[in-house]
This record gives sequence, C-alpha cells and structure tokens, in this order.
Amino acid sequence: MDDAILVINAGSSSVKFAVAEAGDHAVTTLVKGKLTRLDQAPHFTATTDAGEVVADTFWEPTGGRQEILFGKLVDWLDHHLDGHTLLAAGHRVVHGGTRFTAPVVVTPRVLDDLADLIPLAPLHQPHNLEAIRAMAAAHPHLPQVACFDTAFHAGHSDAAMRFALPRALHEDGVRRYGFHGLSYEFIARQMARVAPDLARGRVVVAHLGNGASLCAMFNGRSVDSTMGFTALDGLPMGTRTGSIDAGVILYLLDQGMGHETLQHLLYEQSGLLGLSGGIGSDMRTLLGSGRLEAAQAVDYFVYRTVRDIGAMAACLGGLDGLVFTAGIGERSAEIRARIGRGCAWLGIDIDPVANARGTGCISGAMSRAAAWVIPTDEEQMIALHAIEALKTAASDDRISKEEFFHV
Ligand code: AMP
Repeated sequence: MDDAILVINAGSSSVKFAVAEAGDHAVTTLVKGKLTRLDQAPHFTATTDAGEVVADTFWEPTGGRQEILFGKLVDWLDHHLDGHTLLAAGHRVVHGGTRFTAPVVVTPRVLDDLADLIPLAPLHQPHNLEAIRAMAAAHPHLPQVACFDTAFHAGHSDAAMRFALPRALHEDGVRRYGFHGLSYEFIARQMARVAPDLARGRVVVAHLGNGASLCAMFNGRSVDSTMGFTALDGLPMGTRTGSIDAGVILYLLDQGMGHETLQHLLYEQSGLLGLSGGIGSDMRTLLGSGRLEAAQAVDYFVYRTVRDIGAMAACLGGLDGLVFTAGIGERSAEIRARIGRGCAWLGIDIDPVANARGTGCISGAMSRAAAWVIPTDEEQMIALHAIEALKTAASDDRISKEEFFHV
C-alpha cells in the first residue's frame, strides 16, 4: 500500500481538494477536485492529474454539514484510490499569525490558537478551521496538518513588517504578514532545482492569478512581499483593489457607507472588474475585449505590477531574476511581454519565441537579469509539508499521540 495525503483548501462556498501520493522527497498528484454549492445540493467533481473526469455528481443536501460531506469524500476516495492509504489531511490555513511560522500537526490547542486569529482573516480563517473540525468529526483518527499562507514570510525584517502606526497596534498584531506563502515556497523549491544559481540570488516572484502579489526573495527566502495585513494589499487583482490610500476608506465611511458594503466593494467589486466598468475580472476576457475600459484595466494591472517589481528590486538591492507564476503569469505571454518591457531598466529582456513557448527560461541571451515561467502547485507544497510535519511530530515526545489524533 502506498501512502497518500489528502490536501484541503476550504473557502466560503466551496472546498477544493487534491490527493497526492507520498514519495520520499516528492509527491505526485493522483486526483484533484472540488465540492461546490455546499449549502445546497453539493456538486462534487474530480479529475485525474491527466485531466480525465472521474466524478461529476450532485450529492444529497446536508444543510451545509461539512462533516457529512468530508465523510462522503473520504468514502469516495477509499473506493477510487486503489492501493493507497490516507496518511493525513493537509489544510491550507490562511493565517498563522506570529506564532505559527511553520506547518503544524493540529491538536485541540492548536485549533484554539488558530481560532484566536479569526479577526485577522475573517473571510477565510473560519472556513479553513471549519474544514479541520469537520474532517476530525468525520475521521477522528486521521492526523491533520495546518499549512499557513503567512509562514514563508515570517523572516521579514522589522521595517518590512511594520506599518507606521503606534507601536501598541503592532504588538496587537496589526502588522504586515504577507500571503501566497505556499505558492512562493513551492517556487523557491522548484528554482533550486531548475535554476540553482538564480535561486541563490535576488529574485522577484510574480504570483499573478485571480489573487496577485509579488515576493522579493534572496537565497530562496522571502525578504518582502506586496501583500500586508490582509490579502487586499499590493497589486490590483481580479476583484480586489490592491493598495489604496486609507483616506479613501475614511471618505467612504464619512459618506455613510457601511462595513459590509465597504468590504464587498474592496474585495468583490474592485480590481480588474471595477476598473473595466464591469466587463470582467478575468484577464482572458479583458484581453479579448475591444473596449477602452478593458484596455485601461489591463494597463493599470501592468503599470502597478511594474511599479511594485521596482519596489521589490529596491528591497533586494538589485535584480538577478524575475519569475512569473499562477494563471496569468503562467499563461499570458502578452502580459509577461508587457511587464518585461516595463522592467527593461532592471535588465530584463524577454525573448519573444521563448515567451510564446511559455515554460522555463524566457529571457534572451543578452538579458542582464533572467526571466522564467515556473508553474506553481500549492497542493504539492501542502502535501510535502504534511509528510514532514507528521515525521517531526512522530519523533516529538512532548506531543501526546492521543491529542495528535483527536482534534
Ligand atoms: P489563478 O487564480 O491562478 O487560477 O488565475 C486566474 C487568472 O488567470 C484569471 O484572471 C484568468 O483569466 C487568467 N488566465 C488563465 N489563462 C489565461 C490565459 N491563457 N491568458 C490570460 N489570462 C489567463
């Protein structure tokens, strides 16, 4: 029997999952899928890594009771993963705060500590924790590992972590954490394999997807990132504003805008969707549209990305390489070319033929700084962390194995 890890990425209305076969130093994805419409008739879909659809069904409504859904999911996996035993569930948890700077095996105490961080990420953390509780109820003997989006950025300098606010607020947790850490960590790992010299240098990684951010890395470690206290900061995104003058928020509050409307505006109605006047949040839609507003939204996205790559390069004292990843970064040659042109002053010279191919090194022979496309895989990173955390916990006498299994 081969060991496998179930990876869970739980959101407000859907749960994404993947199952990875656990090797010694690498994992292979066996199946990926999604549960959507959790509160109605849950829609369960799954595909193999090769893209073959192996499930597409509606389950009986459970009134949103996730423990029933996770029970059904694990039963389905039992029947469809011949020759594999689930070793653990690894969860993406958005916030580890200042305490959790590495993946951790979940115990009741860990879960309480993570619940204390809900005010820092009210839109995501509750769903992440609900999934852990539901899995514990469905399968009390399956160890669970929490992997944090913030952890990779934990080594930032004091200046990179602060807002220019009174110190007491910083002590209360109002500080810049950074997100997309599991993606950046995966990229750092891949870079060490495919471009070891570059991995030791000064690199800006551009995670450009529906959510978008940059990470300044030196020697594979995060030095700074464009996301801060929440995943709202930094680059414009599909529907999120990115950086915005806090004075705008005060103005809107003065105008009588309530908290919920404001939150909806900043997270759901802004970014590319807002900039394009509602044409779309999807980069493909905007690139394919002939309308001026769509072109202006794309211009803004490129402009702000180039501007912040400059800021990240300044944090690093120069630039040895730029890495593109996530949906837009991996698939849009046009956006890469435009960002590349904006970064010519940093020594980036993208080769059009290599860029059109869209994998590996895409910079020209004369480029002073390298440009790469490296696909990210957060699920793999979570699976690798889960295996590692289980090994560490198994050899740690301070962790009671009873507690370890019963969340
Ligand atoms: P992600 O959140 O990483 O899944 O990325 C989603 C984003 O990638 C959306 O804005 C998509 O429009 C964008 N995307 C995916 N494929 C392409 C493509 N071929 N060209 C441009 N954008 C793309």
